[in-house]
Amino acid sequence: MNQTDTYTSLSTELRTVPGADLVTSGGLQVVVTCPNCGAQHRHLGLGLRRSPCGTWYAVTRTAGLRSEA
Ligand SMILES: [Zn+2]
Repeated sequence: MNQTDTYTSLSTELRTVPGADLVTSGGLQVVVTCPNCGAQHRHLGLGLRRSPCGTWYAVTRTAGLRSEA
């Protein structure tokens, strides 16, 4: 599975936060530590997300699968 990050063009104001996989009974979720409020928020996938506290960020895979050209 290769994932290509195409969100770099948004990164001037958008923060990138690493997400940790969380397996639930409903499927896979991603948990991030919010750069805005410091709480942990869950999302259904990677990419551009709006947190419950109202900020936007790009959820990325945690370290290990990152590949930078
Ligand atoms: Zn938050």
